[in-house]
Amino acid sequence: MKTNKEIIDLRPQKKQVNSRRPYNWLHEQEPDAEGTIRRVNTLFLTNKECSFKCVMCDLWKDTLDEPTPAGAIPEQIRLGLEKLPAADMIKLYNNGNFFDKKAIPPEDHAEIAQLMDSYETVLVENHPKLCNSSVTEFQQMIEGDLEVAMGLESIHPDVLPQLNKQITTDVFKQAAAFLKSNGIKTRAFILLNPPFLTDPRENIEWSLKAVDFAFDCGIDTCSIIPTRPGNGIMDRLLEDGLFVPPTLHALEETFDRALALNRGRVFADTWDLYRFSDCDSCLPSRKNRLEKMNLTQKILPLVRCDAGCGNL
Ligand code: SF4
Ligand SMILES: [Zn+2]
Repeated sequence: MKTNKEIIDLRPQKKQVNSRRPYNWLHEQEPDAEGTIRRVNTLFLTNKECSFKCVMCDLWKDTLDEPTPAGAIPEQIRLGLEKLPAADMIKLYNNGNFFDKKAIPPEDHAEIAQLMDSYETVLVENHPKLCNSSVTEFQQMIEGDLEVAMGLESIHPDVLPQLNKQITTDVFKQAAAFLKSNGIKTRAFILLNPPFLTDPRENIEWSLKAVDFAFDCGIDTCSIIPTRPGNGIMDRLLEDGLFVPPTLHALEETFDRALALNRGRVFADTWDLYRFSDCDSCLPSRKNRLEKMNLTQKILPLVRCDAGCGNL
């Protein structure tokens, strides 16, 4: 079991961020529960680092050390919205938990809600342990629907405790039930190849079990995230043979099989996909296939590599 100190001590430098500016923003598309393609804006808000220290997390790189000053988040949102086109949904990603008071000051909630007036759905990230009345109070403030994304990460009984996420599957289940009973949409992040599970086949099977478990908990959407090194501790675990990054092929198989479950929307995270591929020739077509599958929620034929790399 890694301690917070061990995890922090191995970290590389944080990036320079400004509490008055979102550190990134993007516009993309995503199907809704009925399969209609919706326009989605994402704002990456600069705020205080998450107080949890999960082993696999690298989100702290773009965060502040100090509590976020009051007024900074609404200012960032106004600035971000000026850069983005109109959209149906907005994701307010804050590299942590929206209902962590030091990250997003509660006194800013009403102003943030007002800035969301034109959106049908507002998605925020939150830790299962922070799903309480603050969430439902914010839900009352916004015009549209609230969606909460939570990290389930893994349901492997030996892996989840070692991730230092401070949750159990029961904690996740209770949080999902609380959100659902209040009419809040839910999304789960599930890792493919978390640290401490090194057999490639087992990794695929355990990610699929986590997808199934999330749907059993009433989660509406699952997002499969291939685990990456690069935060210090993950690089150490890689060296020590306690972390094996997934291959692109493993992501393809997991995504195909998760969609085939036909239990709800499933997305595959295609960011930085080159890290998981060993062939430049087929990577663009394979990425394209996964992106199309994200949009259509249909399993498409596998890509055959012209260079004969051995990937299908
Ligand atoms: S709760 Fe989320 S943001 Fe916080 S350390 Fe864990 S993975 Fe990172
Ligand atoms: Zn290839």
